[in-house]
Amino acid sequence: MSEPFRIRTRIDLDADGKQFGTLDVPHSSNESAWGALRVPIVVIKHGRGSTLLCTGGNHGDEYEGPIAIARLIRELDPAAVQGRLILLPSLNLPAARIARAWSPSNAPCSQNTSIQRACGAQASSIGPVTRST
Ligand SMILES: [Zn+2]
Repeated sequence: MSEPFRIRTRIDLDADGKQFGTLDVPHSSNESAWGALRVPIVVIKHGRGSTLLCTGGNHGDEYEGPIAIARLIRELDPAAVQGRLILLPSLNLPAARIARAWSPSNAPCSQNTSIQRACGAQASSIGPVTRST
């Protein structure tokens, strides 16, 4: 039986305000069998309400989403929100750092590999939170 796919974050998804952090996606490499791929995350929350998940940069050479989400992060006052925004500006940060569609290792970040599982797992783990708010 395989272990469940677990993503960790130090961010309290229920706390009001603007929080910056990472999703730590399990990732084995030659450097560390127990490593993690870090995906930037910002949560902006104020009071109770619905949750909106915004993602960008599934491919590292797609700039519009990360730029729009970064602008939202800089400019949005949490007091203007009723509910929660979960913002993932760069799903494929290793690829974005080299301005290429695919991750340099082609293992942790490319389509149909762990980052998509990560996003799927994150979305499903956020689901119960969104339904409860
Ligand atoms: Zn794409």
